[in-house]
Amino acid sequence: MSNCPSGKSCDECRLEHGSQECKVHAALETIGRRYIVMSGKGGVGKSTVAVNLALSFALQGKKVGLLDVDIHGPSVPKMLKLESYRPEVSGAGKMLPAEIGSLKVVSIGFLLESPDSAVVWRGPMKISAINQFITDVEWGTLDALVVDAPPGTGDEPLTACQLLAGENAEAVIVTTPQQISATDVAKSLTFCRELKLNVAGIVENMSTFVCPCCGKETAIFSSGAGEELAERFGVPLLGKLPIDPIICQGGDEGTPFIRRFAASPTAAAFAKIVEKLS
Ligand code: ADP
Repeated sequence: MSNCPSGKSCDECRLEHGSQECKVHAALETIGRRYIVMSGKGGVGKSTVAVNLALSFALQGKKVGLLDVDIHGPSVPKMLKLESYRPEVSGAGKMLPAEIGSLKVVSIGFLLESPDSAVVWRGPMKISAINQFITDVEWGTLDALVVDAPPGTGDEPLTACQLLAGENAEAVIVTTPQQISATDVAKSLTFCRELKLNVAGIVENMSTFVCPCCGKETAIFSSGAGEELAERFGVPLLGKLPIDPIICQGGDEGTPFIRRFAASPTAAAFAKIVEKLS
């Protein structure tokens, strides 16, 4: 007999008891929806979307996990002012996530000596770390897990998608409006197709700039990557976010804009995106 949260005995299950696959299966039994935030391109706002999405769910009263699998460039600790968090180990030998209300957070950044430390790992170590972040963390029961993936279609997004795949898992794809971004982000959409991972939709970030002096809205970058990709791949465009200094300020100061600037038009635009994902 096992203590599997599925309630099944090992005889009823095709997985070998105690194997990594079995541990992942058991961990996912207590995790509800899974959102993997990804993009083919760096610097487009993935971490910003992941952090604010997870916090939005938590502010709705949901139990939420935020897992930062950007092994080489974790931004989540800074964005949530958790740089000094050092995880302890539970009685069951599992890592205790940082907690902000009903939001539980895990990042490789918690394990680094300093924010300047570099992780010099090849694929197998990264794959093993991401496996452990799913199975060896006290996530408890979660309504949703939001994963912040690094850019591209390498080991980290591949591992996260393979581990979390299933009918409860969806990708949230982030792009900026430029065609250069569209070219790279299209690869992420193809990647999702190949892995048979549902795509919840696309967020076009930095769509326009709204002048804080006169309020005039300007499309600084050539526009349209979000719409073009949504149409080409037959997935929803979840919404657009402007370039707004409050987003950068919230990220830099560790106080996400959806909380600190909750009454702003940008927070309202983000809330509409969250509505489509709830
Ligand atoms: P990624 O995770 O794709 O590398 P980040 O979310 O880390 O991108 O964003 C990169 C930088 O751009 C951060 O400083 C962030 O605060 C800032 N940023 C992201 N989106 C916006 C926006 N719409 N307006 C202003 N700054 C933004």
